[in-house]
Amino acid sequence: MPAVVASAPGRVNLIGEHTDYNGGLCLPVALPQRTTVTLAPRDDLTLRLTSAQEDQTWEGRVEDHPGGWAAYVAGVVQAMRDDGHAAPGLDASVDSEVPVGAGLSSSAALECAVATGVAALVDLDLADRRVRRGLAQACIRAENEYVGAPTGGMDQTVAMLAEPGHALLLDFADGSATPVELPLDGAGLVLLVIDTRVSHALTDGGYGNRRQECAEAAGALGVRSLRDASLSSLRSIADPVLRRRARHVVTENLRVLSAVGAIGDRSWEALAAVLDASHVSMRDDFEISCRELDLAVETARTAGALGARMTGGGFGGSAVALVPRQLSSAVQDSVLGAFRDAGLTQPACYVVTPGEAARLESGP
Ligand code: ADP
Ligand code: MG
Repeated sequence: MPAVVASAPGRVNLIGEHTDYNGGLCLPVALPQRTTVTLAPRDDLTLRLTSAQEDQTWEGRVEDHPGGWAAYVAGVVQAMRDDGHAAPGLDASVDSEVPVGAGLSSSAALECAVATGVAALVDLDLADRRVRRGLAQACIRAENEYVGAPTGGMDQTVAMLAEPGHALLLDFADGSATPVELPLDGAGLVLLVIDTRVSHALTDGGYGNRRQECAEAAGALGVRSLRDASLSSLRSIADPVLRRRARHVVTENLRVLSAVGAIGDRSWEALAAVLDASHVSMRDDFEISCRELDLAVETARTAGALGARMTGGGFGGSAVALVPRQLSSAVQDSVLGAFRDAGLTQPACYVVTPGEAARLESGP
């Protein structure tokens, strides 16, 4: 059988952070940057994995549990085999435009590109949304169970279901995924992503700690997840740290709804205010920002961004800003200048438009 080539996008989350694993709401956008995999099927059950972004080649059997980056690929193959798909051994090569470890979900881009290529090899219909949802679930299990990163499902879901020109409203209470048109161009606005180059690691404990605190807060309130908690009920949480964590999640869900309403009304100032409030909540209540993210957000705002927030899991990674197109260069220059003045590594800035979901590029 000939090789297949498949690709999947990274994502930037517009709003709704650390809500996915709390049965909540988020509003990610697929990036134009993509990860591409070439998968040549083998007639044995060997995996040979190479990546242009990694020095280490990995070779083993499909049932092995590699560490490091190979787990993202082998984990998807295994999760799909667990689902009853006859995923074959593979010679796989990876290349990516998505910055790695920047909070822009290079991990889900890799997983979903592999899942899409394997789906083509085992003859699944990628035009069927249920098939795409099944692949997203396999990728989530790969990241949780095979890689060991306790992330929610936002990244894989948007990578499999995004539509160009749209953000995707995800509701983890009922599993719905609703495209939300994002006509920024017509409004003279752009989305600016600022990668602080402070690398975050989702397996190093901070992310899992917040997830654990949210579970404890839900337990203290006697609700199944923080999605079911009201703002007024949070007073009954005795521990002030848990109370703040819960307040972030509860208010963040409300902010996602406000953001969707503002986008629907084409009320960009209102959207921007919600982005700002989200950053304050992540900085002060959830405590997942860092000096570099705060500097990026504050500098972007001072230089003319309508609103800005850190995005992704936190503890480093990227910020996203809503910027008038004619101020985009000035905002980027200000951010680079502020980092230079502070003696920090230069960030990487990207103006992004909402990209397309995972797709087959060629074959079988
Ligand atoms: P993010 O998803 O925000 O980029 P993660 O920590 O979730 O950050 O995932 C980054 C990890 O995913 C990398 O350390 C590596 O193991 C794996 N990865 C992502 N992209 C690639 C790639 N192109 N080649 C090899 N491994 C990759
Ligand atoms: Mg990731």
